[in-house]
Amino acid sequence: MVTESKLTVVMYHYVRDLENSRYPRINGLAIDRFRGQLDYLAKHHTFVRVEDVMAACRGDQALPSDAVLLTFDDGYADNYRYAFPLLDERGVQGCFFPPVASLRDRVVLDVNKIHFALAAIGDVEAIATFCLEKVAAWRDEYGLEEPGYYESHLARTSRFDDPRTLFVKDLLQRGLPETVRSRLTDEVFRRFVSVDEKAFAEELYLTMDQAQTMRRHGHYFGAHGLSHRWLDSLPAEEQRAELQVSLELMRQLGYRDGEFVVSYPYGGFDEHTLPVARELGFGLGFSVEARTATIGQDDPLLLPRLDTVDLPFSG
Ligand SMILES: [Zn+2]
Repeated sequence: MVTESKLTVVMYHYVRDLENSRYPRINGLAIDRFRGQLDYLAKHHTFVRVEDVMAACRGDQALPSDAVLLTFDDGYADNYRYAFPLLDERGVQGCFFPPVASLRDRVVLDVNKIHFALAAIGDVEAIATFCLEKVAAWRDEYGLEEPGYYESHLARTSRFDDPRTLFVKDLLQRGLPETVRSRLTDEVFRRFVSVDEKAFAEELYLTMDQAQTMRRHGHYFGAHGLSHRWLDSLPAEEQRAELQVSLELMRQLGYRDGEFVVSYPYGGFDEHTLPVARELGFGLGFSVEARTATIGQDDPLLLPRLDTVDLPFSG
């Protein structure tokens, strides 16, 4: 019997020394704000571990009424550099979700190429223009629509971005056919950020050694797909392949059956995703739906998470 209990799951992405970094405009959380949020959470919540949440979902134990779990997506080296020591100092567990392409293959994820291009020049219009010119030039080759079509058909509002930034992200993440998207994202990255993708990846992402060290210190690692694609844009078999490869990486990190957790890239899922995840043996899954979870009510494979910006930054 599962006791109903509330669980706040907080989602972090870039937690970094923004001011002194080469990309101060990246949409990240500065270290002192992170520290302030930990103070706030320590005052108002009880930190719990992934193992506690799993036990609660099985009905083996109840969570404290003010439980909070911290999660970090995308596997950044910053997690090791900044979050890891701050969490350790306070005895708080973090759950980290590195995609296989970044952790193992040292490839810069498309999502990061876009973020760093936007941060590098701070002129979203220049990137939008660059993209639309390419769309026009490649129209025949790929059977694309007129540039104006994409401007009028893509997403306009989000919680986090102004309309033009959202347009660029949506065009490069979902709007264009996949082959065009990755070619264009590569060109944007080379033009506005760096021609040395390998070096950039080495600087940006966690290594296996770092992940092992964090795990030895009690932190948790979960799956975030192979190449950070929207699972709901893929047929069931490709979704399975994305999650399977990711699960094998978790095995390499020492996790066994019954211990696998997943964060769906961009929070994307469809009617195939949960059955596939369940079949592969995932016990917990995290979405990006911004609300507090209720254990015993929410599907354990679809636990909502608040974004860091949804919570105060001082205790
Ligand atoms: Zn992600």
